[in-house]
Amino acid sequence: MKEEKTRLEIQPQDLWRPQRLGQRILERVQKKFQVERAALYLFNPSRGDLEVEAAVGVGRARRARRFPLGEGVVGWVGSRGKAARADLNEFPGGLGEGGSEMAAPLSEGENLLGVLAVGTRKKNYFQPGQEEELADWAREAAGWLGLAWRVAGTREEGARSAALAAVGAAIGAEETASAILSKVARESARLCEASLASLFLSDLKSEELRLEVCVGGSRRYRMQPPLGVTETALGYVVRRRRPFSVHHVSESPQDPHTELLRREGMEAFLAVPLATKNEVLGVLCIGTEKTRRFSDAEIRLVEGLAGLAAAALQRTKLATRLDQTEEELRSRERLSSLGMLAAEVAHEVRNPLAIVRMLWHTAIRGLQPGEDQARDLRLIETKLGQMNHILDRILNLARSADPQMGEVDAREVIEEVILLTRSKCSAAHIRISCKLPPPGAARIRGDRPQLEQAVLNLVLNALEAMREGGELKLGVRVEGDAVRLTVQDTGKGMGKEVAARLFEPFLTRRPGGTGLGMALVRRTVEAHSGSVRVRSKIGQGTRVEILLPVWAGEKTN
Ligand code: ADP
Ligand code: MG
Repeated sequence: MKEEKTRLEIQPQDLWRPQRLGQRILERVQKKFQVERAALYLFNPSRGDLEVEAAVGVGRARRARRFPLGEGVVGWVGSRGKAARADLNEFPGGLGEGGSEMAAPLSEGENLLGVLAVGTRKKNYFQPGQEEELADWAREAAGWLGLAWRVAGTREEGARSAALAAVGAAIGAEETASAILSKVARESARLCEASLASLFLSDLKSEELRLEVCVGGSRRYRMQPPLGVTETALGYVVRRRRPFSVHHVSESPQDPHTELLRREGMEAFLAVPLATKNEVLGVLCIGTEKTRRFSDAEIRLVEGLAGLAAAALQRTKLATRLDQTEEELRSRERLSSLGMLAAEVAHEVRNPLAIVRMLWHTAIRGLQPGEDQARDLRLIETKLGQMNHILDRILNLARSADPQMGEVDAREVIEEVILLTRSKCSAAHIRISCKLPPPGAARIRGDRPQLEQAVLNLVLNALEAMREGGELKLGVRVEGDAVRLTVQDTGKGMGKEVAARLFEPFLTRRPGGTGLGMALVRRTVEAHSGSVRVRSKIGQGTRVEILLPVWAGEKTN
């Protein structure tokens, strides 16, 4: 008798949960064949055996039993791809102890998905030919299961893409590294239905893993001491750069971290490396209360998330490094202006002091001082002499900053300044464009650090003038016996009155400015027997040109 097609009576909502679908199939089959036992085995291709996905009327121990292909009724059916009937007293290894059993393959085309098995305590229960009937049911069941997995797969794929996109967006939005790490931990836990997610960072020096972020762990877990890299499975993940998972924490070899997980009530865990292209920065670990296997897709997903976390971490490392160059820039500017300031002050004070000393001599000439007064006047004279001496020392110091002339490649001067200001430029949306001759083509007679400082001052002013972004043009050109260095910006420019006094010390038009930058540029250029020219238009930009003599070999003077 041929039954109608929808004998499994699958409801659309069953397709949303493959586990429930399995249960539903078993209930129907159980009713149809009037048996106490039924089980749905799935084939695990990586291990080559069959394991229970859903079962009714089957004891715990038997559920946990796996059948390699060829072993027991189930394994036999799996390897032959044909339905079969058996008496368990003659052919042990089934759903129960003794009785009758039948099994049929669940396949999709050539692929074995699993085995559907039914059984009973009763002997010789199944009639010849009934296994073919079960095979019919198994075919229909396989169709439904395949469909349900595809539905689930699509949904998971969607959730995974969404999670990756969310973390990617967080990174794009420049959230802090710790915010990104927490997001990665939370998303991994959510997608794998894990109740615990922890993220460890490795400390290369001490060879330890420190817990950085924890979602869902108890206080004890969160307060755990650093783990030695060689002591735990997590260390293995870091050293081998490979994911590692455990299905039965209670059965797996003990290590300090696995022991902690067991105390948290975790039964399975997955750990993946936080790896960038060049290094492993830590481990992401997720734990579930139920024993479970992590699918390849899940492992890949968690690895992907961990990779994003690693990228975020590397970016902050990079950011700290950039902050350092920024700091270096500032201190260079401060130091050079400080020297300039001291020399300037000394110079300005020396002239009035010379006048005071002169007047002192004239003033006491006609005087007949008493003893006390004479002592005071001598004291004033020594103090004036001391002051003069201090000023001389400062001026000598400033003079010792006279350039140490040597052969300098102008191209390298520009390149060094670009290196120092590159990150600042990109942060300020300033494009740098260069017109440079080939290395060694534009050689100047000069003091490299001083020239770099002068060009740096010009570039810093240019950046200051391009608060809204713009273009910084740097150029070097050999013109006869001179080399021309150009720093040009598309910034706010300056008016005639500022331009006219630009090189005067202390002229500044910006809060926090010293007004010494351009004065220092002029001093350096003059010490190099060069010249400097400025052209500027309000609202359009500024162009500064420095002309310096070319290197003409070592001079004797
Ligand atoms: P500071 O930068 O400390 O103000 P500087 O001597 O470097 O001192 O510059 C003096 C002033 O000249 C600046 O405050 C600014 O008003 C003006 N200036 C210098 N370079 C530029 C430029 N490229 N564009 C517009 N204004 C500039
Ligand atoms: Mg300046």
